[in-house]
Amino acid sequence: MEAGKTNAKGTGARPRFPQVGQLLDSSFLENAITRLSRPLVTDVIRRVLDSYRKQRRFITDDKEQAQLEADILFSCQKLIRTRQSRVINATGTVIHTNLGRSPISPDVWDAVAELNTGYNNLEISLTKGKRGERKGLVNHLVSALTGAEDAMVVNNNASSVWLLLNELSAGKEVIVSRGEQIQIGGGFRIPDIMGMAGANMVEVGTSNITTADDYIDAITENTALVLMVHRSNFAIRGFTESADIKEVARRLPEHVLLAVDQGSGLVTETFSKEEVPADRYLRQGAHLVCFSGDKILGGPQAGIICGDKELVKRLEKNPMMRAFRPGRIVYSLLEELLVRKLNGEDSGRGIAERAQLNLEANHQWAEQLLPKWGNSVSLLEDQLVVGGGTLPDEYYPSWSLELHLNKPANKILDELRELEVSIIAVIRNDKVRINLATILPEDRDTVARQLTNYLLEYTQ
Ligand SMILES: *Cc1c(COP(=O)(O)O)cnc(C)c1O
Repeated sequence: MEAGKTNAKGTGARPRFPQVGQLLDSSFLENAITRLSRPLVTDVIRRVLDSYRKQRRFITDDKEQAQLEADILFSCQKLIRTRQSRVINATGTVIHTNLGRSPISPDVWDAVAELNTGYNNLEISLTKGKRGERKGLVNHLVSALTGAEDAMVVNNNASSVWLLLNELSAGKEVIVSRGEQIQIGGGFRIPDIMGMAGANMVEVGTSNITTADDYIDAITENTALVLMVHRSNFAIRGFTESADIKEVARRLPEHVLLAVDQGSGLVTETFSKEEVPADRYLRQGAHLVCFSGDKILGGPQAGIICGDKELVKRLEKNPMMRAFRPGRIVYSLLEELLVRKLNGEDSGRGIAERAQLNLEANHQWAEQLLPKWGNSVSLLEDQLVVGGGTLPDEYYPSWSLELHLNKPANKILDELRELEVSIIAVIRNDKVRINLATILPEDRDTVARQLTNYLLEYTQ
């Protein structure tokens, strides 16, 4: 240490500079070490000490020691905040990509815990004792759900789209409607994926109107595929027309396949009037349909491709399957979810369905708490959207708490995020709203407790 013989205040007392090891063993960092690991906390301590050294700040009394500890803790807390942690979704958007998309039913999760913490039969045939197929029962279950001949699973639906484009149409033409040139979330653009998969895109129609003739007229000898893409995230209203898929399917020549990126995974759910279920596309003549596992279906992150048996076989043999294949956590969760879905159990319902069942219970819950919260909170009718790139134009009823506090809505939003279990709320008409539809029943007590304490702190 180059600090010399006098300390910053020039009193001549020997400057104390704390040792990293000493700080690391102090009790104030115990929790941080549990949450971050010793090496990461060590890094934080070093960084803070370095900045003290650069500023020639020395620790000469308890007050400065306390300040140093506070600075270290603050940096640790900031890092802890970046770790995956449970949050409460009070946004009214059920499938929220920023909040992990679809929560998995606790029953489904618990049911597969054991087979994931031990060994399992991922790739061995238990009847023959030989190496078996990775997909287990999942393809049969997806087939039972959708009526498809066969099915397969990849890591996410972006992989599904890439895989089917690459396998079925590399070096050939793929016809896509200009109304379906969509971007889904960060950087997943159909035209880009098309290029990366080696397919040549042929655009037809306009952004609001594409007819069956548009597709059929664009077909050449070199056409491999017609790709229809569900319009995620936005809806085109007014003067619009989409091609009748049945008609396109019927008029396609032998050498052209029809694939639909359905996206949401809606199949058995009955709440949506607009969304076309995956099984209907198959019945209408699509050779392959793909969708995400963690949207309306309600499972883990996955891409599911179903349809024609021979085509699924071809996709499975694509060399990139090695990179796209999911691990057993995904397979086991999907199997469990689908069995429960096919048996009509509540735990097999996706979160979008479960959220809508809570309307009455949410109202009762809030009514009970309102007197306790006084004038700072009111209850109002609100809307819920499914989200996650699904049902862009459909709204369902929900209840929301509106906060009436004398401070900027943005500030309240920040403070709710800083609670022990972050509450992610939204601002509507300059007021903070806590939408009850997306709060999971098991989180209601936490919300009540945290909100009561928050309001108490505020009114004191
Ligand atoms: C969500 C979505 C995707 C991307 O799916 P991921 O599972 O996020 O990879 C692709 N296409 C459509 C139509 C979607 O809705």
